[in-house]
Amino acid sequence: MRSHLLNDTTTEHYRRSVTEGVERVAAKLAATDRPFTGVTVDDLAPRIDAIDLDQPLRDTTAVLDELEDVYLRDAVYFHHPRYLAHLNCPVVIPAVLGEAVLSAVNSSLDTWDQSAGGTLIERKLIDWTAARIGLGPAADGVFTSGGTQSNLQALLLAREETKTEDLAKLRVFASEVSHFSVQKSAKLLGLGPEAVVAVPVDHDKRMQTVALAHELERCAEAGLVPMAVVATAGTTDFGSIDPLPEIAGLCEQYGAWMHVDAAYGCGLLASLKYRHRIDGIECADSVTVDYHKSFFQPVSSSAVLVRDAATLRHATYHAEYLNPRRMVTERIPNQVDKSLQTTRRFDALKLWMTLRVMGADGIGALFDEVCDLAAEGWRLLAADPRFDVVVEPSLSTLVFRYIPAAVTDPAEIDRANLYARKALFASGDAVVAGTKVTGRHYLKFTLLNPETTTADITAVLDLIAGHAEQYLGESLDRAC
Ligand SMILES: *Cc1c(COP(=O)(O)O)cnc(C)c1O
Repeated sequence: MRSHLLNDTTTEHYRRSVTEGVERVAAKLAATDRPFTGVTVDDLAPRIDAIDLDQPLRDTTAVLDELEDVYLRDAVYFHHPRYLAHLNCPVVIPAVLGEAVLSAVNSSLDTWDQSAGGTLIERKLIDWTAARIGLGPAADGVFTSGGTQSNLQALLLAREETKTEDLAKLRVFASEVSHFSVQKSAKLLGLGPEAVVAVPVDHDKRMQTVALAHELERCAEAGLVPMAVVATAGTTDFGSIDPLPEIAGLCEQYGAWMHVDAAYGCGLLASLKYRHRIDGIECADSVTVDYHKSFFQPVSSSAVLVRDAATLRHATYHAEYLNPRRMVTERIPNQVDKSLQTTRRFDALKLWMTLRVMGADGIGALFDEVCDLAAEGWRLLAADPRFDVVVEPSLSTLVFRYIPAAVTDPAEIDRANLYARKALFASGDAVVAGTKVTGRHYLKFTLLNPETTTADITAVLDLIAGHAEQYLGESLDRAC
């Protein structure tokens, strides 16, 4: 069994195993002609259930064969140009290389004595990101597992900065289309059920600053504490960007912490063409960035950045077994002092490899391409009488629905769109997402693959229309 431990005596086994795995994935990527096979839970569950984990196969090749059957064959492939559903990106090769290196070396970024150079690389990437945002000389931050954790940490700092003991008094303002992690965080932070105030959005799904001002005023009048305003720079559903400069002004006026959730829109930090769309982000007290969304990084890769490094002390605890207080005076850099996690992956290495091989402009150019594609897709949809499209994209999302000429019952139109999405998923020809707009079912393309073309968009729209028409035809038959 010791032959499976990665060390100086097993490097040949390591090379062979990893190469075999890489060959399998490479063959898979080359051969997939659809983003999904349409496998169902009922198809797949028995195959996985049948495997006895107490009866190992022992042989790597046999295990990879089995993996083909239970996972690789039917996985959802984000590299395919017709995967258009959620905020998942195809990944760049330098980052995948980084992933292979970081898991083999297996540094843990909690303390200097578990990572050495890894800690300094992470710090440099945090400084790089903070500088791109424009957070100023006192900025800092830390890598996290994702936007959810970044938002939680940012709101923890905001809560502590209020120095308010009565948590029931705290209010967090976020647009009605902000990410649900804001509410989850509020709950975890012990805030009351009324704590998150949903601020209405305008026609373009951007927070209405007049409404925000009104809510902040009401909060002040009621003797409550405006703990934070969460501005979303790229909503998950629409890619809409809240008006950051105006929100910054209101935060200043009412003494509220400004958090910018740029989990999606952070790709613009590297953009050559559209960086101005997130102007005002430099006013934030904290920022969430998800490199695993718009920097083409493998999951996980995310960070929370803060304007004032000192605020990270709210996440600092010392333990004799790990990061004793004396290490601070000895100037030993322990990232755990800034993090909610303890043992933590060296995810930063993926971004490092990416920037060193491709440069920031390379990443930004890829993100610009998908933003341009979305703009083109919007023109196609707006000109197509079969579809209703909402919100001209600020990033790379299109939200639309099929609107049959002959049907007026909105519930029936909802069902036709829901059916089209399910039928498309079952066929595996394309994967699209869905959401609700003013109570009605819509479909959504999140475009993050620069390989997707307008021809793909046109083809998928035709497939959607075909499935929806088929549903309506059958529904008519049922009625007769
Ligand atoms: C995806 C997303 C999140 C959550 O990020 P995870 O990495 O999935 O945890 C938070 N906010 C916004 C706006 C997002 O799009």
